[in-house]
Amino acid sequence: MNVAVIGTGYIGLVGAAVFADWGHKVTGIDIDEKKIAKISSGEMPIYEPGLSELVLENIENGRLEFTTSLPQGIKNAEVVFICVGTPQGEDGAADLTAVWSVAKEIGKHLDGYKVIVVKSTVPVRTNERVKQIISENLKTETVFDVVSNPEFLREGSSIEDMQNTDRTVVGFDSERALNVMKELYAAVEAPLVECDYRSAEMIKYASNAFLATKISFINEIGQLCERAGADVQVVAKGMGLDRRIGPYFLHAGLGYGGSCFPKDVAALYKTSTDQAYDFKLLRSVMEVNGMQRSYFIKKIKSYFGNNLSDRTIACLGLSFKSNTDDIRESVSVEVIRLLRGLGAKIRVYDPEAMVNSKKELGESNIKYCLDAYEAMEQADALCLLTEWDQFRKLDLTKVKQLLKSPVIFDGRNLMDRDKVEKAGFTYFAVGKVTNGLIEQDERPVYAILRNGPKKS
Ligand code: NAD
Repeated sequence: MNVAVIGTGYIGLVGAAVFADWGHKVTGIDIDEKKIAKISSGEMPIYEPGLSELVLENIENGRLEFTTSLPQGIKNAEVVFICVGTPQGEDGAADLTAVWSVAKEIGKHLDGYKVIVVKSTVPVRTNERVKQIISENLKTETVFDVVSNPEFLREGSSIEDMQNTDRTVVGFDSERALNVMKELYAAVEAPLVECDYRSAEMIKYASNAFLATKISFINEIGQLCERAGADVQVVAKGMGLDRRIGPYFLHAGLGYGGSCFPKDVAALYKTSTDQAYDFKLLRSVMEVNGMQRSYFIKKIKSYFGNNLSDRTIACLGLSFKSNTDDIRESVSVEVIRLLRGLGAKIRVYDPEAMVNSKKELGESNIKYCLDAYEAMEQADALCLLTEWDQFRKLDLTKVKQLLKSPVIFDGRNLMDRDKVEKAGFTYFAVGKVTNGLIEQDERPVYAILRNGPKKS
């Protein structure tokens, strides 16, 4: 089939490459001229494992091309995907400016039957509005259909996720469009959820909100574990083995971040208030999430004191998760900002997100290092902020030699506490006791460790 993909970002570029790999003839379209020039010359604008190879292979075999011209890009397409960004607006709702603008352009240039597919994450009733905008902008009477087809892939494993998705959701109002979607996704074996627009739109938000809820839930269990003397990783393992619960999204840490969860949870909450419904659970999910990073900073402050101006902190990880260069709403970046705000000098390393972070954080009081070990040189403590695999495998002897004092704040529970403590480190994880001491509110464990245990 001939397919056009509008918006060649983290979703659109991967989608375009995967559709081409399934045998479709695909044109990727973007308003960002630099991005299109880069991709066309074989350079990827983002880091995503396997993407470069897949894009290049399909450009070479003639199934994938790119343009900045929407009219030219959609001309021969039977299916047109809208994959533009829907960032968080000031009131928490999704900002749909790019979706409306693309719908208008599609309407102006439509000259034959096409299925317009909204893949961007959009609130309920958006697909209906897209249909209306296209109709209002048609130059000649043209039959077309709109389909809602939300995407569930995860950055860092996008290609694999899209090729082996758990389900394909199709919100539609015409059998003709449904059949086109079935043909397009013929290579996928997963169940097809056929439904109305609003349910399809809600499935996406409800899924992300539920996953965010799991994260906040395990983070609260972690808070309880630190106070009660339990280990949240053991608790999560024990819970996750129950098939009704499952092991995923039960990792206590610094909370969720990234380009989807924060904005999608906020947008769903806004939808609920717009519908005069107070979604209390979601409000708590967001509150708990914010609390996790403050709590992490509180640990560091309790250990070193409130003023960190004479401290250097080594921070490993900048991207919002491993295997991506995406730092949108990255909790790691936020933690670094907070530490710098307390006066700390930061030495930082991330395998893929250094360029994006330099643009975001600048260079004031931050030294961007060539590798993890360089970041640790003469630092007062090590903070583990993103769960890159290489940070799990650090050579502890080397780490101890490089740091000024052997202190580790592990925001992602990457290390084995027993091993690290045996190696002579003071080790703070999330949701487990430190050096056998149970967290007490009036005199936190970290203060006890710094000053020595309280004399009875
Ligand atoms: P992105 O910012 O990486 O990409 C959006 C692209 O759209 C950019 O390249 C931008 O230049 C382009 N664009 C904007 N306006 C345009 C226009 N008028 N014409 C042509 N191109 C235009 O965003 P993303 O992360 O790919 O997300 C896209 C959508 O997919 C969002 O709604 C997001 O919520 C959803 N989504 C993202 C993920 C993810 O992991 N990133 C997962 C599932 C769903």
